[in-house]
Amino acid sequence: MSSDNRTYRNYINGAFVEANDYLEVRNPANGERLSRVPVSAGADVERALSAAHDAQPAWARLPAVERANYLRLLADRIRGEAKTLARVITEEQGKVSGLAEVEVNFTADYLDYMAEWARRIEGEIIESDRPGENIFLFRKPLGVVAGILPWNFPFFLIARKMAPALVTGNTVVIKPSEETPNNCFEFTRLLDQVGLPAGVFNVVSGDGASTGQALTASPLVDMISFTGSVDTGSRIMRSAADNITKVNLELGGKAPAIVLDDADIDLAVKAIRASRIINTGQVCNCAERVYVQRGVADEFADKIARAMADTTYGDPLAQPDIEMGPLINREGLDKVVAMVERATQDGAELLTGGRVADLGAGFHYQPTVLSGCRSDMEIMRREIFGPVLPIQIVDDLDEAVTLANDSDYGLTSSVYTRSLARAMHACREIDYGETYVNRENFEAMQGFHAGTRKSGIGGADGKHGLYEYTRSHVVYLET
Ligand code: NAD
Repeated sequence: MSSDNRTYRNYINGAFVEANDYLEVRNPANGERLSRVPVSAGADVERALSAAHDAQPAWARLPAVERANYLRLLADRIRGEAKTLARVITEEQGKVSGLAEVEVNFTADYLDYMAEWARRIEGEIIESDRPGENIFLFRKPLGVVAGILPWNFPFFLIARKMAPALVTGNTVVIKPSEETPNNCFEFTRLLDQVGLPAGVFNVVSGDGASTGQALTASPLVDMISFTGSVDTGSRIMRSAADNITKVNLELGGKAPAIVLDDADIDLAVKAIRASRIINTGQVCNCAERVYVQRGVADEFADKIARAMADTTYGDPLAQPDIEMGPLINREGLDKVVAMVERATQDGAELLTGGRVADLGAGFHYQPTVLSGCRSDMEIMRREIFGPVLPIQIVDDLDEAVTLANDSDYGLTSSVYTRSLARAMHACREIDYGETYVNRENFEAMQGFHAGTRKSGIGGADGKHGLYEYTRSHVVYLET
């Protein structure tokens, strides 16, 4: 499947269509050219949005269970091609094959899960002040949803946006990241085979400045569902403001992991390491900084440095058994290099790693641990998005929670302790959208993934995530 120089086409109104301009997609592990994909201009975006707009009323009139059946058919096709799809993800994104397969199968399960909501979408009947009056609250679709995606879990995030949108009667236009569009076109190829009505699901690829901007500025969009960085989220909010378009923003994180002196240290090391090397540290919800209590600080630092140093890495397609692939691109690698350099200049001590891994080609960085960090350092405050773990020593739980909360971000957090009372105290005081106790950071599809502060507005998954894609309509009926 690699180096065959595929050309993908936009998917608009049920057909694959040409664009005027194309960009190249390359493998971050070795620089090899993989495909050409459209850079969609404003006119392409408008065509896709018009198709979605025109298709939406008939789609919304279908019973939800019929809408959901298309998701189930798609899930079956995805499972049938899981290995091929995983390879497409690995090629363009760089995650290891095992994780890519988890992503593909999780996506199929997610489609089935959201399909199950079809018979559970519920309104309300509200008691009235007037005799003979009924008050009904209906849940209705918003209309057209623009889904704008990042590159780190590119396949799953298509489903996270389109599945709740479609089951609740919306139509969708997706823009994949310019780094990882191939898997989105493969997803679309399978969706095209299940006979979804034309215009219900559309894909326009391209960069943020042209294609993304055109999507967010259009009055045809009723909701922008965005996952990506804080800076882009902020720009999207500004663009959406002109049309008062609803935004759902899943943004960056700087997840604190708190390790207390009564914790199972081996468990904490295992979970935090897993959390830091998964997808080469490029995950919004995974441990980005550690606050360890003084009494166990040396033991923890020693063990995690050794565990991180043991991590195997390289080109995931050439070495299928490695634990970690490359970073996504040159910019991502340069950012990690510069942040580690500044941290050591500011007084952090390098326990392991700290260098670009010279494998001949690709954007590889060594698994890295920094101790002696302070809360005023950039490395403890800014999202790293790489396999680098900074550690700060604290005296007690309250200090750890205060430092954890002193952040622009508020997505996920974790606590390691054997004490139920301390765990509950931490959960009460920590100001985050999610907290994991004694386990690695990874959310469940039936939970609700949502951040506070600059980590976003609204959320995804579960009942609450489903209802993000609906609006209310209240009817007062006197008989
Ligand atoms: P990014 O913000 O650079 O890009 C995301 C998408 O936005 C891309 O498709 C890009 O083309 C598009 N875009 C860029 N500028 C735009 C504009 N002006 N208008 C419209 N669209 C525009 O993010 P990224 O580098 O792809 O992803 C990494 C970030 O995503 C990290 O910060 C990570 O924490 C975050 N993330 C968050 C979650 C979550 O659930 N909260 C999940 C995954 C990733």
